[in-house]
Amino acid sequence: MRAYVPSYQLTTPASLAEALALIGNEPGTWKPFAGGTDLMVLLEAGKLPHRYYVNIWPLSELRGIEIADDYVTLGALTTYTEVQDNDVLRREFPMLCQAASETGGLAIQNRGTLGGNIVNASPAADSPPALLAYDAEIELVSTAGARWIPYNGFHRGYKLMDLRPDELLARIRLPRTRADSQHYYRKVGTRKAQAISKVCFAAVARVDGGRIQDVRIALGSVAPIVLRCKATEAALLDKHFNETTVRLARETLRREITPIDDVRSTADYRLQVAANLLVDFLVNINLQNF
Ligand SMILES: Cc1cc2nc3c(=O)[nH]c(=O)nc-3n(C[C@H](O)[C@H](O)[C@H](O)COP(=O)(O)OP(=O)(O)OC[C@H]3O[C@@H](n4cnc5c(N)ncnc54)[C@H](O)[C@@H]3O)c2cc1C
Repeated sequence: MRAYVPSYQLTTPASLAEALALIGNEPGTWKPFAGGTDLMVLLEAGKLPHRYYVNIWPLSELRGIEIADDYVTLGALTTYTEVQDNDVLRREFPMLCQAASETGGLAIQNRGTLGGNIVNASPAADSPPALLAYDAEIELVSTAGARWIPYNGFHRGYKLMDLRPDELLARIRLPRTRADSQHYYRKVGTRKAQAISKVCFAAVARVDGGRIQDVRIALGSVAPIVLRCKATEAALLDKHFNETTVRLARETLRREITPIDDVRSTADYRLQVAANLLVDFLVNINLQNF
């Protein structure tokens, strides 16, 4: 059933400072409304319990993509279309661009934001695995100041986050990637487009002198949160690509993830697909070195 719209309040502050003052004065009362692509679905379905929203969409302080020597910094309101249009992101962060291109349709890509995707905290979201594999950091701001934290660790449990009610997610920072890094991203869904992931796999690594280096692996839809797979990374780091390495890494990954049966898939299918994607990633990065 549709919600009764007049029972909701949406206010548009003139600046980030005004938005922070509003959510800081009455923590928990006002929640951010960015692109609205997650929130409007809940509203239409009559499942949006919270009533008071701050429209952060017009805030220029939360927009823009800055390129510096060591980092690329994206405003929380960066849309999927803006991600795909950026030359540096296309060159150095192809997994994020691929995730953006496989998120919803064009209308969602024009309006949906990276910040909204992170804070909506779906374990099946498509950008977070890429952001985790790229070692993203995020900036949380409030009237008390700003803090940068590693994105890995931000999600504490299903829909639980290291985010205070007086804080907004302001920016996402990605350390620039090396030219010899190899990137591997696969979203497995029921269809090629407009599908929620059954498994989402993002990994980056280099091969140096035949050994796997700087490997970072993250998966979506295989645990209550998007998961950086540190044990699997450790099983691969500094190893040669051979049968033993692949077997040990597969076994480690199967222990590290905890997929469930749900309407979209089964735990068994997800375990098998995740392990297959790991092997495909390893084959791909090694093939490119011969
Ligand atoms: C048809 C359709 C298809 C979709 N397809 C995909 C898909 O393929 N892959 C995928 O991952 N997602 C998909 N989505 C989900 C959605 O589009 C994304 O999660 C999007 O990135 C959300 O961003 P938003 O700005 O619209 O968030 P909003 O709906 O505005 O907000 C989402 C949540 O985040 C909070 N929030 C937003 N911005 C901030 C901020 N800066 N600081 C603190 N809290 C904040 C809000 O309070 C709210 O709780 C789809 C949605 C629809 C309707």
